[in-house]
Amino acid sequence: MNLYDVAVIGSGPGGYVAAIRCAQLGMKTAIIEKYATLGGTCLNVGCIPSKALLDSSHHYEDAVKHFEEHGIEIPGDIKVNLEKMIARKQAVVNQTTGGIDFLMKKNNIDVYQGLGSFKDATHITISTDASTDSASEEIEAKNTIIATGSKPSNLPFIKLDKERVITSTEALKLKEIPKHLIVIGGGVIGLELGQVYKRLGSEVTVVEYMDRIIPTMDAGLSKELNKVFKKAKFKVNVSHKVKSVERKGDEVIVKADNKKGEEVEIKGDYCLVSVGRRPYTDGLNAEAAGVKINDRGQVEVNEHLQTSASNIYAIGDVIKGAMLAHKAEEEGVFVAENLAGQKPHIDYNLIPGVVYTWPEVAAVGKTEEELKEAGIAYKTGQFPMRALGRSRASMDLDGFVKILADKTTDEILGVHMVGARAADMIAEAVVAMEYRASAEDVSRMSHAHPTFTEAIKEAALAATEDRALHI
Ligand code: FAD
Ligand code: NAD
Repeated sequence: MNLYDVAVIGSGPGGYVAAIRCAQLGMKTAIIEKYATLGGTCLNVGCIPSKALLDSSHHYEDAVKHFEEHGIEIPGDIKVNLEKMIARKQAVVNQTTGGIDFLMKKNNIDVYQGLGSFKDATHITISTDASTDSASEEIEAKNTIIATGSKPSNLPFIKLDKERVITSTEALKLKEIPKHLIVIGGGVIGLELGQVYKRLGSEVTVVEYMDRIIPTMDAGLSKELNKVFKKAKFKVNVSHKVKSVERKGDEVIVKADNKKGEEVEIKGDYCLVSVGRRPYTDGLNAEAAGVKINDRGQVEVNEHLQTSASNIYAIGDVIKGAMLAHKAEEEGVFVAENLAGQKPHIDYNLIPGVVYTWPEVAAVGKTEEELKEAGIAYKTGQFPMRALGRSRASMDLDGFVKILADKTTDEILGVHMVGARAADMIAEAVVAMEYRASAEDVSRMSHAHPTFTEAIKEAALAATEDRALHI
């Protein structure tokens, strides 16, 4: 039987990064993945394929709506070849997951394909044929990192037929462009994939339970994105409680109660259910190892990300916290370094959140709502993207950067932005906050002109002394 210092169960961004860091630190490492390709949700059916389709659909929208204004004329009709678009997405996925194979080899990590189940706290059976339940292999590991990720959640009354009533996984490989896509859940997945199909020509109706889209982000971001989506003719129904989803032939009928308690019926041909994701521990046999799963289905961990079994750790979507690839990665590194006797640290307040719509939405630190609730006195500096020369050059006028700073000390407490390339720009805010910069610190740093990042400097000037230069 092969003996390892560390076995990692699950090869998503949490698991594969944990495995690499363990190997870098000299531990004999194995990784177990039940699917044929490595990379988990993120690389196979999450971050990477959704961004590939967002990029392709963005190019199409630009070609149809904006090229002419730029003086680019394309004779004849511009058409979408969905099959080709999906094939390109898959090629990107294949290339990326193949890259993880390479990284495992490079770091001498043993890869086992099959379902990993605990036999006890130090033994894992790896079953290559889940249907027969027969373990084909067993390994011994001094320490194990559970990185089994998450799966889409559903509402109890919805039958996902995965043809027309679908999750994000199917939405990434549709064979036709929906005529009318109904999106249940106006969170990250609903808005990103809703925008893909809106750009490709679908009518898109979003049905959201809360009183605003992206409800966990700063309310100002929700408001701005909602404005942009409405301008693009999305139908956005907030404060709607979905009661039923019924499939009749090629039609999908969604019934919901609106704020006044009136029943609303929406008919479409596809319905994307994007109401969150749930931690995944099926088949793990956690109890055999003494690993506690809480009533939310998460693997319970302490501040060292250690489970109730002292040699078993858990990271990523399967534990508490934001379900984000980069959060899972940080936790993978954290556990590996802890195992090697180092003293790593994660500041969860500084894990940025991004929605890859266009304009992009990005945030780090506290929202205004959180600061108010905590009774922290703060000041605000906000700068609109439309006031930038760079924004006018590319016609990306929507959005703003908002900086929240401590009223007394001027320390930056939160940065929230909607705008072109906000996903990349937020990194500046993360660096500033990691070093506990004040708004004035950022306002005194040179930002290249013309760039979108000038909005960060201007918002910092506005927060410091209400003296933005260009507005
Ligand atoms: P996962 O990536 O879910 O990987 C877990 C792996 O474990 C899977 O491969 C699974 O097969 C395997 N596994 C499970 N149980 C076993 C077992 N018993 N034995 C062996 N293998 C097992 N996050 C971002 O930060 N940015 C984005 O842009 C983004 N976009 C997304 C878009 C979509 C459509 C979706 C669905 C998600 C997106 N996410 C994004 C979220 C991101 O994918 C997850 O937060 C991330 O993948 C979590 O990583 P993980 O390693 O915890 O788990
Ligand atoms: P989410 O939590 O972002 O959004 C779910 C939305 O569904 C929420 O707005 C919620 O209020 C709403 N909702 C819940 N129950 C409802 C109901 N009964 N009726 C109507 N609306 C309802 O979840 P998601 O969009 O499914 O994404 C899942 C996870 O994947 C998220 O945690 C997210 O962090 C991650 N993800 C991240 C990215 C990114 O980083 N860009 C992209 C996609 C997914």
